[in-house]
Amino acid sequence: MSHTVCLTYDFDAVAGWTSAGMPEYRSWGVYGAETCVPRLLDLHDRTGVPSTWFVPGHTIESFPEAAGEIHDRGHEIGHHGWSHDPLPSFGSKEAERRDFVRGIEAVEELTGETPTGFRNPAGGFSEHTVDLLREFDFEWDSSGTERDLRPYYLREPDTVESGEPYRRGEPTDIVTVPVPWHRDDWLQLFPVASDPQFVSYGHEPDVFHRWRTELAWTREHVEEGVLTLLLHPQCAGRAPFVAELEAFVDDVKDMPETDFADVSTVVSAFST
Ligand SMILES: [Zn+2]
Repeated sequence: MSHTVCLTYDFDAVAGWTSAGMPEYRSWGVYGAETCVPRLLDLHDRTGVPSTWFVPGHTIESFPEAAGEIHDRGHEIGHHGWSHDPLPSFGSKEAERRDFVRGIEAVEELTGETPTGFRNPAGGFSEHTVDLLREFDFEWDSSGTERDLRPYYLREPDTVESGEPYRRGEPTDIVTVPVPWHRDDWLQLFPVASDPQFVSYGHEPDVFHRWRTELAWTREHVEEGVLTLLLHPQCAGRAPFVAELEAFVDDVKDMPETDFADVSTVVSAFST
C-alpha cells in the first residue's frame, strides 16, 4: 500500500485580481510572481520533490520569467484558462472555447508541448467545459471534489431540475484528481476584503495540522491514497507558510510507502 502527496500550485498572479475593485489588489499578484514563486521553486530545489503548476495564459504572458523558471526547473505545467475568468461567465461555448484555446497556446509557447491536464479557474465548470476538454484531448483534470483521497472519472454534466431527483451524467475517460476545499490554502489563509466582512488570516500551523492529520488517517485507512494540496504562490509563498511547508515535505519524505508525485504521474498509475 503506497500513498502519494501532490503539491499543486495555481499561479494566478494578477489574473485573479483583474476584476477586483481596488487596483492595489494587483500588487498581491505581482508579489506572488516576483517574490513567492522564486521562494517556492527554491524550496522544491532543496527538497527535490516534484509539483504541478496550473498557470493561466494571462500569467504566462504577464510574468514570462517566473513562468519560464517553473518549466525550466522541471515542474509540470497544466492548463488554467487564459483570462482566469469563471467558466460559466463566458455565456457561450464559442466564447469559452476562445479563452480555452488561447490558454492552450500560451502553455504551448512556454513548454513546447500541448497541455494534457486542466484545472478550472475560479467558479467551476460551465455546461460546455467537459465537451471542450474532450475536444482538445485532455487526459486529466484536477478540479472536482466528488472524492477526497482517490482519483475518479469525470462525468458529463449532471442534471438538476426543480422537483426532480439529481441525475448523474455518464462517466468520461478523463481522470479527475480531486482537490477538496479544505486543502486549498487560499480559503484558509488569504484575507478577503469583501462585504459584509473582512475574513481574517488563519494560523499556518493549524492548517498544516489538519493536512498532517488527514495524511496520517489516509496512510492507515485508504489504499493508494492521494492527498492533493492546492496552493497559490501569493499565499503559500509567505514566510510562515514556506517554513511550515518545508517541514511538512521533510516529514513526508521520511514516511515509508509515501512519496510526492506530479498529477500526471498519479493519473498514469490510476489509468493503467
Ligand atoms: Zn486559479
